Amino acid sequence: MFAEVIVDIAHSDVDKIFDYACDETISAGMRVVVPFGRSAATGFVIRTKEKSDVPPEKLKRVYRAEENFPALNGECLGLAEKLRDRYRCPLALVLRLFLPSEMRTGKVGEASRNFARLTEEPFEPPLRAKQQLALIGFLRENGEADTAFLRERFGGALKALTDKGIVLIEKRRVFRDPYRGIEGEREERTLTPAQENALEAIGKTEKTVTLLHGVTGSGKTEVYLRLIAEQLRKGKTAIFLVPEISLTPQMLSQLRARFGGQAAILHSGLSAGERFDEWRRLREGSARIAIGARSAIFAPVENIGVIVIDEEHDGSYSSENAPRYNTFDVAFLRAKYNNCKLILGSATPSVETYKRAMDGEFGLVRLPERINKRPLPEVCIVDMRREIRRGNPSPFSVVLRERLKNCLDGGNQAILFLNRRGYSQTVLCRECGYVAKCEHCDVALTYHSEENCLKCHYCGARYHMLSGCPECGSVRIGYVGTGTQRVVTELKKLYPSARILRMDNDTTKGKEGHYKILKQFAQKEADILVGTQMVAKGHDFPSVTLVGILDADMSLHFPDYRSGERTFQLVTQVAGRSGRAEERGEVVLQTYEPENAVLRFAASYDYEGFYEHEIAMRAGMFPPFAKIVRVMVVGEDEKEALEALKEVFGKLEAVYAKQPEKFLFFNKMHSPIKRIKEKFRYQALMRLTDGAPLREIYEICSAVSYKKTVVYVEENPANLS
Ligand code: ADP
Ligand code: ZN
Ligand code: ZN
Repeated sequence: MFAEVIVDIAHSDVDKIFDYACDETISAGMRVVVPFGRSAATGFVIRTKEKSDVPPEKLKRVYRAEENFPALNGECLGLAEKLRDRYRCPLALVLRLFLPSEMRTGKVGEASRNFARLTEEPFEPPLRAKQQLALIGFLRENGEADTAFLRERFGGALKALTDKGIVLIEKRRVFRDPYRGIEGEREERTLTPAQENALEAIGKTEKTVTLLHGVTGSGKTEVYLRLIAEQLRKGKTAIFLVPEISLTPQMLSQLRARFGGQAAILHSGLSAGERFDEWRRLREGSARIAIGARSAIFAPVENIGVIVIDEEHDGSYSSENAPRYNTFDVAFLRAKYNNCKLILGSATPSVETYKRAMDGEFGLVRLPERINKRPLPEVCIVDMRREIRRGNPSPFSVVLRERLKNCLDGGNQAILFLNRRGYSQTVLCRECGYVAKCEHCDVALTYHSEENCLKCHYCGARYHMLSGCPECGSVRIGYVGTGTQRVVTELKKLYPSARILRMDNDTTKGKEGHYKILKQFAQKEADILVGTQMVAKGHDFPSVTLVGILDADMSLHFPDYRSGERTFQLVTQVAGRSGRAEERGEVVLQTYEPENAVLRFAASYDYEGFYEHEIAMRAGMFPPFAKIVRVMVVGEDEKEALEALKEVFGKLEAVYAKQPEKFLFFNKMHSPIKRIKEKFRYQALMRLTDGAPLREIYEICSAVSYKKTVVYVEENPANLS
């Protein structure tokens, strides 16, 4: 027999299939060790065959299989080839997506423990040894038990009985349990009529993709769980994607309660061993629901009955590392292969998704009201220009202060949201306008008062706070903007007795950082939660009745065609944290641009209005009408990077010259951030119409090869910096 093998080296030079001789135990999808060059390499068996065209004297033999089962199933192999063609990258790189990285590096393996049981009766029990008799009694009653446990409880009796041959010890494989400490209570719920309708509509439609558009708190999760449970009953499996499961402990315990060991939850908080075991349980079929962030779309489940992408608009669904896949594209391929449904859920669908639903390509199902018809919180827009005119320079408007006081007096909780972490955004010289920047990244630094230092939010570098301006020597150093730290400091002055928690990248370091803060807040150990984007995500805190959005404009002025969409999503999501239980919620939205259309639509929860406005602005220019393609050229050697840019751009120009009408925009330039972590960044930016030669662009980029410069393609990148 022969095996076609791709070696697990991500380089275009070895991105081809090599034939090896092998025996019958080798099958497609297995990982094998093969002779390669002068040493050995790990590889993937793509297929096996009876004949090889390679002359026998040139054929080498597979040394051995890494595991005694195929790590990749047939679907995954086929999917990997499709993705390789789509994103033009070495197959080995795509195949790696399907495996837990721990498996490739060989750092973890299966865990096993010793179990003790009684030998077959009859045997002669020791008459006088009390402990030994107790142990025999225990095993008679319980069948078998972990030896570590028995040794602790019955001491030397275990060894004595083993020596007599009365107790047998067996080593057996165990799965590490990542859910210790997470227990949920199973709530029996009757579906609301809206949820019933949604399920019925999803059941009936012929379309592969359905958008579930439900306002915040409308009970989308319950709909997903029912869909999944239904497929499990039919003997099928499911994939459930959420942007950041480690951020939502409530979701974890709900899933745990509902599906128990059937669910494998893959999240960043797991240890390497736990992740490996969860993957194994899915591969073996003992777990049938894969739950996790975008990478869970590659879960090794077979016979999929439904795929759910929750918060489908979330930026985390497009990968920023090679291969730069889009989660929806992969999910769609898997849904087609398995002939199952793909459900996209959101309160604020991306404009692109909504358009596809409007055009009839996707089904559309709505949950227009919150559970129990709880009203959406009322949004009050505050004009911050007036506050300044009235002599209030603080980050809090008069209205917000009043409402905050009422909220706290009533024993309720509040969330204050802003876009920036740190104390103030930037440090600048009031005389000459000098701005402190990172030496490695060409971005402005942020002042952190707790450590009294300046930090770069791109590379984490720290600098001493300035005592004077390095340009002109002036000591008039000032701050612009407000960060989370400063908000907390100011709040403490205003409400000395309030207990305040801060949640941002600085306070959530470590494995359980988020979890701890959220838990404290959920248990009402704090009155106010101040935070960045992280506080916007899907949390369900019943006592929160006030949400303050301190700087609604920040994301509006991002130089990106999606800034309006992002702002709408962010405002809606943060507002959705308020008033989820009996008491009516309030939202105070502070802005310097109160007449802004996007903010107006967000304040009135008018998604359709926002969509019409946005689609009209983008027509013929931006996605979904055109595709933004950015070719990035990134390298530490500026000269080489420029050379690479020149070569790539030259080749792209030739493509452009053939069909200029397919390009709405085409140019090369510095990236907005010219340098990150010592690497220079250049780009060719394009806007393409339908039918533009995207494939050729990928081919050009994958064909160039430089020592210290990488070239890659991004489609509609989530971040254009
Ligand atoms: P969404 O994901 O749409 O924002 P959730 O799924 O978080 O909404 O649901 C909002 C709240 O309503 C949650 O507290 C959830 O437990 C509750 N809920 C959902 N469905 C029902 C139901 N059928 N009956 C009672 N409560 C429900
Ligand atoms: Zn930096
Ligand atoms: Zn100066």
